[in-house]
Amino acid sequence: MNLNIGCIAGDGIGPEIVREARKVLDKVADKYGHSITYTDILMGGASIDVHGVPLTEEAIAQAKASDAVLMGSIGGDTTTSPWYQLEPSKRPEAGLLAIRKALNLFANLRPAVLYEELAGACPLKEEISAKGFDMMIMRELTGGLYFGERKTIEENGVKKAIDTLAYDENEIRRIAVKAFDIAMKRNKKVTSVDKANVLDSSRLWRAVVNEVAKDYPEVTLEHMLVDNCAMQLVKDPAQFDVILTENMFGDILSDEASMVTGSIGMLASASLNDSRFGLYEPSHGSAPDIAGKGIANPIATILSASMMLRYTFDLDKEADSIDQAVKQVLKEGYRTGDIMAEGCTQVGTEKMGDFICERI
Ligand code: NAD
Repeated sequence: MNLNIGCIAGDGIGPEIVREARKVLDKVADKYGHSITYTDILMGGASIDVHGVPLTEEAIAQAKASDAVLMGSIGGDTTTSPWYQLEPSKRPEAGLLAIRKALNLFANLRPAVLYEELAGACPLKEEISAKGFDMMIMRELTGGLYFGERKTIEENGVKKAIDTLAYDENEIRRIAVKAFDIAMKRNKKVTSVDKANVLDSSRLWRAVVNEVAKDYPEVTLEHMLVDNCAMQLVKDPAQFDVILTENMFGDILSDEASMVTGSIGMLASASLNDSRFGLYEPSHGSAPDIAGKGIANPIATILSASMMLRYTFDLDKEADSIDQAVKQVLKEGYRTGDIMAEGCTQVGTEKMGDFICERI
């Protein structure tokens, strides 16, 4: 298969970590008989430096022409970088919002995995962390409260602010289908999270998810109220496989889930649209404080590349080979500085990429 991959190296540590992810993809392609065409795409600060704007029409067209896009991270030091002297619509992060919109990326996937070897970084009690966990949070990204009508009015001299939380059944159905498809590739369980005891939008959410579930008899569906889910994530995270939820609940729960893993340099993410296209990137930012030092952890980006193989290209065996290689390197005690622990061997960005390649 030829994989046509757009590549946004981005800013800060972006180019360093994307270089390692590409190295790993090349190794997988070589081993399994695929070829890869990369198209470099400028976005964020790197695009501002060349074009004066964080995202050009050309960059959008290049992304659209790719099967998937692999991204490092964008942005600089928000207090010292000249990019942040520009008006908000011209700053690096505006490019990210614009590309998500242009590509209609409505489904955000954030895995939260606690590796046995990194259990020490988990802030939860040992009896909970010892069980490990491996969940995927699937968050609706383009609807709900953040995109609803909002206004601030004054009634009888009292200011009043109104935000609107609206979902139509089509918006719910398309993300539910994605969640069940992804559960089929994992442990076949979906926990749909809502506030159906209070909100109409949640009652519709629940009804549509129940309908979609009928097409997936192998998948176990459960519904959970969002307040309970927030508790369960710290009490018993091992119970979850795929968590499906709307925009604001997902915003909060995915941050909570990543915190309990304790390792920001390990967390991948993806944003998908109606087709098989996806934008794959680490959950962390561009870490300008360590950029250019060769010490950034490339694993989140490497695992994002693995997600790309699994969800855009349906290459599960190839994706497994990356995930296994990452686990193996951790088992052998190699660590970048951010996840370093006593008795382990500290390595830099490039060495970590090399070790993962060697184990594929
Ligand atoms: P950050 O995630 O870049 O860094 C937070 C801390 O984690 C820093 O100490 C950093 O050194 C460390 N860190 C992050 N990734 C690491 C890695 N792979 N290996 C080792 N250490 C790592 O968050 P921030 O400092 O709040 O933001 C920096 C810039 O990144 C800002 O411009 C912000 O807007 C941008 N940002 C971009 C994205 C994105 O591209 N999607 C996401 C978040 C933040």
